[in-house]
Amino acid sequence: MSRLLLSVFATTLPLLAQDLAKSSARVVAYEMTARLDAPARSLRGTQRIVWRNQTGAATDELRFHLYWNAFADRDSTFMREAGAAFRAQWEDGDFGAITLERIAQEVDGGRRELRVEFLQPDDGNPKDRTVARVKLATPIAPGDSITLETEFVAKAPKALRRAGWAPGGSFFCMHWFPKLGVLEQRDGRAEWNCPQFHANTEFFADFGSFVVTLDVPAGFVVGASGGRASLDQASGDRRVLRYEIADVHDFAWVAGPNFVEHIETFAGSHAADDHTGIAPAVARFLGIDLATFDLPKTELRLLLQAEHDTPEQVRRHMSAAREALWFYGMRYGPWPYPVLTMVDPARDAKGQGYGGGMEYPTLITCGTDLRPHPRKLTPEGVTIHEFGHQYWYGLSANDEFRDPWLDEGLNSYSESRAQVLAFGGDSTVPRRPVRTSEFGAITLAAVAAPTVPGDPLRWLGRLPLERLPAPVAEVGSDLGIRGTLIPQSALLSLLAAQPSLASFREVEAHPEWIDRARFLASDVPDSMLIPGWQMISRASYSANAYTRPATILRTLERMVGRDRWWAFLRRFHTDARFAHPTAADFITALERDCGTEAAGFFRSATEPMARLDYAVHSVSPADGRGPEQSVIVRNFGTLRAEVGVRFRFEGRQQPEWRTIPREGTSPWTEFRFRDEPGQPPRGRLNEVWIDPPGAGTPKTAEAFEADDALAGVLVIDADLRNNVWRARLDPRPSQYVAIRALLQAQVRLLFAALIG
Ligand SMILES: [Zn+2]
Repeated sequence: MSRLLLSVFATTLPLLAQDLAKSSARVVAYEMTARLDAPARSLRGTQRIVWRNQTGAATDELRFHLYWNAFADRDSTFMREAGAAFRAQWEDGDFGAITLERIAQEVDGGRRELRVEFLQPDDGNPKDRTVARVKLATPIAPGDSITLETEFVAKAPKALRRAGWAPGGSFFCMHWFPKLGVLEQRDGRAEWNCPQFHANTEFFADFGSFVVTLDVPAGFVVGASGGRASLDQASGDRRVLRYEIADVHDFAWVAGPNFVEHIETFAGSHAADDHTGIAPAVARFLGIDLATFDLPKTELRLLLQAEHDTPEQVRRHMSAAREALWFYGMRYGPWPYPVLTMVDPARDAKGQGYGGGMEYPTLITCGTDLRPHPRKLTPEGVTIHEFGHQYWYGLSANDEFRDPWLDEGLNSYSESRAQVLAFGGDSTVPRRPVRTSEFGAITLAAVAAPTVPGDPLRWLGRLPLERLPAPVAEVGSDLGIRGTLIPQSALLSLLAAQPSLASFREVEAHPEWIDRARFLASDVPDSMLIPGWQMISRASYSANAYTRPATILRTLERMVGRDRWWAFLRRFHTDARFAHPTAADFITALERDCGTEAAGFFRSATEPMARLDYAVHSVSPADGRGPEQSVIVRNFGTLRAEVGVRFRFEGRQQPEWRTIPREGTSPWTEFRFRDEPGQPPRGRLNEVWIDPPGAGTPKTAEAFEADDALAGVLVIDADLRNNVWRARLDPRPSQYVAIRALLQAQVRLLFAALIG
């Protein structure tokens, strides 16, 4: 069976991937000015917008997003959806808004003023003013363009959700300008895709170009999409900078008096030097010249908050950015922009972050702690994740309202692998992270990664966390524990560096296992393929956008085989570059490149509550002895897959393999073994293992990257502990766990005695 599979998989894909697109359709061109009045926390701006109707139908209206109106009061759809706890954070003076004061259409050398009205296409909430409609006197025919001029005033909200002003005087100008929605063609008609601003979902826009002139206080450091200012003039107490960038679908900028700027470079990389071997394998598979995979030089600009400005922080941000540029570039094609700007968001005196981790074209926000722990991957993880969005969201610009998983899921999957390759696993890599916090035991309780059979860490979930001092943040309920984290301090950093408190080798960080554990801990009553804002809860949105697709993709990778899988992903990205892929495009490409089995599994894995859990249901006789044995394997879930089952007998050197097909309706399958005349007896049945890890599994004859799975193929299997049956119990895992628990208890008591 393995031979056959290998020979099928070794053929190249039927079609070559075309060359990477060099530019986008450039549907819209924005020329904008913005003057920041820092004391008033407001912007005054102008726009000249040229927009082309690239659908096949005429339209007599335009629609704009006015995102900052989501923060105008507590009645916007965003605020309603974000929940009472979020609304309660807002005090008088924290609110913001955007007003489109004037909008005019250029006609025959003159101007025609246009009228603005608000729409609520999604929920009819009359208090929501995040979508504006502008009626036109004459329709815009297919292929025709319209030129508009606007004036707007934007009052910055407190940056409790990414955009606005932050304590310390910096400004995070994200989705800050009147921004056109996307005109799409549906059933021969042109329709605006311009949803309201929702609490959980993100953005979607046409590709275009931006020329933006910013007028800020003279002492401010500025970072913006586009990277380097093409003009930078200071006069008196003001500074004027101009940025230009094309083939992006948004423009964000930050400015503040306390940023410290650092500039380094990513030197580029040759694909022939790819130590994972995947770039050469994919190039061979697709029949593409490997030299076209080489990565160019990129400038890295880092804007750190002054209190974070240490050589270590700079090194860690920069090295994470280099790892990310290398990983994503080698896997999905070179990043086509010359400058990446990384911004460290502000924190207030209580440690609350403003701005968070977020992605915008060529500019990402990726924060850090005051004293980064040597083995906790902050800021590395968030830097790699947000950079990854430069591919999945930036270049491959899916509609994040409709298919949030298409950027977040592909990105979570990619980011986890990038982190494992960069910072984990291989003993030749000096940085071996153990996921720990400033106080080991608390993070231990929070990490649900099942790294040893029997889940010995479950007891940690019952730590009396509420008795710990000075709570600042609730531990996420999605992690399955209740309690509080304690604030970072030099003393705790010291304590966390004590091996007995922080270095539990059972919970070595593994981003891919954490994705899986979080997905399995989630309630997912929604299909993964419905619009994000229609999902039942933020928890369902998080699972369906991030951890569920990441787990499905990791399973598919192993079903399909390493080289074919990465060739498929590269090809999908190539097709999606500077385009707007949909879920249907992904499934079509998956079926084309990886076959109907993979596509069928993907479809069913995205259904509401889809769960896969193959288990050894029964063995008879119970001790495995006798001339005849019967083993029943049962799926306790609803999701089916082709599964290999390995049987070991006392009288046979080689194990026997059986396969359960994906097709079929019965949740259980019986396997019978009977000694045949003329054959040596099998003897006692010693072990049954469903989808065992490691070499020898027919489906995993190919080596896998980051192959630390406890499963062969189906890492999505919800409970790996019931996959094995043994005639004789192995006492070692329980002894091991008991001894470690005893040692930990002893260390803790000793420690308590010391500080008492
Ligand atoms: Zn993300």
